[in-house]
Amino acid sequence: MERLIAPATVWTGETVIERGAILIRDGTVVAIGPIDEVSSADGAERIDGSGKLAIPGLINAHTHLYSSLARGMAVTPFAPTSFTEILEQLWWKLDKALDPESLRASALIGAMEAARCGVTTLIDHHASPNAIPGSLDAVKEEVCDRLGLRGVFCYELSDRDGPERSEKGIDENLRFFASVGGASPGCSAQFGLHASFTIDEPTLDRVAERIPEECGIHIHVAEGPEDEVLCEQAHGMRIIERLDRYGLLRPTSILAHCLHIDEAEKDLVAERDAVVVHNPRSNMNNAVGLFDLSGFLDRGILAGLGTDGLGANMLAELFTAGILQKHSHADPLVGPFDALHALLFRGNPRIAERLLGVTLGRIDVGAPADIALLDYTPPTPLRSENVLGHLLFGTAVHSLRVADLFVAGRPVLRDGAFVDIDEEAVYAHARAQADRLWGRLG
Ligand SMILES: [Zn+2]
Repeated sequence: MERLIAPATVWTGETVIERGAILIRDGTVVAIGPIDEVSSADGAERIDGSGKLAIPGLINAHTHLYSSLARGMAVTPFAPTSFTEILEQLWWKLDKALDPESLRASALIGAMEAARCGVTTLIDHHASPNAIPGSLDAVKEEVCDRLGLRGVFCYELSDRDGPERSEKGIDENLRFFASVGGASPGCSAQFGLHASFTIDEPTLDRVAERIPEECGIHIHVAEGPEDEVLCEQAHGMRIIERLDRYGLLRPTSILAHCLHIDEAEKDLVAERDAVVVHNPRSNMNNAVGLFDLSGFLDRGILAGLGTDGLGANMLAELFTAGILQKHSHADPLVGPFDALHALLFRGNPRIAERLLGVTLGRIDVGAPADIALLDYTPPTPLRSENVLGHLLFGTAVHSLRVADLFVAGRPVLRDGAFVDIDEEAVYAHARAQADRLWGRLG
């Protein structure tokens, strides 16, 4: 079937078309241009884009949907003096309390909130140590099958909860990777590892033995300074070198954070063409350190942007990435628009493309129709050369309202409402699940 979005201001990912039109057929963009140059067949569904800005669907390159029900949660005691203690006192309590029902509710709420921020693809890193087998199917079913977003999933393998759960984590990653059959446009898998400091040598040996060659890893790297210190103490080498010895630095491997890796490690990441993902708001919230934005981009490393589970608003995340650089370097010229554009609008689509095997991040003939329609009437001229100024200083800091969202042409949101989801019922169920979950916190 055909859908025609018109008239709308369209940002293709490259250029702005005023009073533009987008024609979608069978999930793919088949025509795009000024409204009088695009015609649809009789019977095409017409979507009024007046007062709206159409942008390519956004991608979150590192998130944790399992944390969606943490909002408002209190843990005691909470007096961390290091990043590891933040994990111990908060996140490792939450993930242990997740059961099959609450992890489903958490995944769906997180995905719906992402959709409301214009996100069409989620790259998730899941943990539920007391509900490991089948957890990735559950998350995938909520995100992809029920809501209709694209997703890449993995289980956060760790030795922190003993050998039995570690083995289950390996099995869940391998089983799920095999079940999705490698890259497909809607859903794919990686092999998840928590972090170097929670993965012992025998476990990494088993991972290296069993991980398929075409499967990348998804791991936190040097998020806190202690990760590198412990790696050198225990293994006599830096984290990137340790992962490389096991052949795990692959073009489909995501290294989240990388705040404390040294220059030689960055060179090795570049040499192996592995992916680095920056999560500025999470890093600031945990007070763990500053991302070397120019150091990664200048090396040609494929760098992207994630929220690390702290919200889903990629435009606000990008805004923060910029002001964090400026503030930290005490230089308003650091973190310029082209570097920010490289993270979210070039990096993330290329990362997703490596994992899903589909071209994302642009509205163009032949590309899948992953499109967000934002309610946006600018008070100043909007042109190809100043789009980022509008997205960051308009939608990100004033108000972001996604009226319509399409994934492969299929509507997820229409006129501000979910198409196939009873939002009120889902939120009521989530509150009940959160109540149960919080009651189980150790
Ligand atoms: Zn993370």
